[in-house]
Amino acid sequence: MARSVDRRPDDAVIEGHDVVKEYHTGEQTVRALKGIDFGIASGESVAVVGPSGSGKSTLLNLLGLLDVPTDGSVTLYGEETATFSRADRTRKRKDVIGFVFQSYFLIPTLTARENVEMPRLLDRTPERTRERATELLERVGLGDRLDHYPDELSGGQKQRVAVARSLINDPALLLADEPTGNLDRDTGDRILDLFDELRETEDVAVVTVTHDDYVATAADRVVRLIDGTLRGGE
Ligand code: ADP
Ligand code: MG
Repeated sequence: MARSVDRRPDDAVIEGHDVVKEYHTGEQTVRALKGIDFGIASGESVAVVGPSGSGKSTLLNLLGLLDVPTDGSVTLYGEETATFSRADRTRKRKDVIGFVFQSYFLIPTLTARENVEMPRLLDRTPERTRERATELLERVGLGDRLDHYPDELSGGQKQRVAVARSLINDPALLLADEPTGNLDRDTGDRILDLFDELRETEDVAVVTVTHDDYVATAADRVVRLIDGTLRGGE
């Protein structure tokens, strides 16, 4: 599969060393991550759990190159992300990373299929994109909802459209904030099975933030964030 970065299956996709993230608001400084180390390998699934405010979204934003650490180092395939220009960052994000945001961010005036195609609208292969979008929607069980608009879909169906969209660029790293939060158990299982399949067949690394013990149990590894500090464990 063509990518602009080398796939090194046994190596880390992304690593962090002594990562600190502070937010400054007015005179206040919040130290959201207090010097954590992490590594995510190709094909593994990691569940990030922890109480509200412990830094889970902050970590996900750093993994997704949406934000930069205040201190410490984050490397993507061994490259220091702090050296990336804004354009590099955007391109790497598009090439390597898929996101499933907690609040879907579907575009209301586009159909399910168009929403999934959206990240590739500027590419020059519209037919291939259309095929891939259709295939992904079928894989998440929405083959019969291709032409529906978001307000014609249930919460769980919208979530599955968001999952399909996150996969349109064949990411090496899939980041998901509560990916099964609005799904009944059967549908949630279907999404978890899809993640497993992607890990096994395409070596995709999957990082999920979750409050659901069931999702955590399905992951290879669980890391617990407590007040900006990481605790490993099973
Ligand atoms: P979680 O996702 O685990 O609930 P967050 O990563 O969102 O936690 O937040 C970690 C800490 O950082 C919290 O104390 C939160 O209030 C603070 N924080 C998060 N984002 C910002 C921001 N943009 N500005 C200021 N403080 C923030
Ligand atoms: Mg959060």
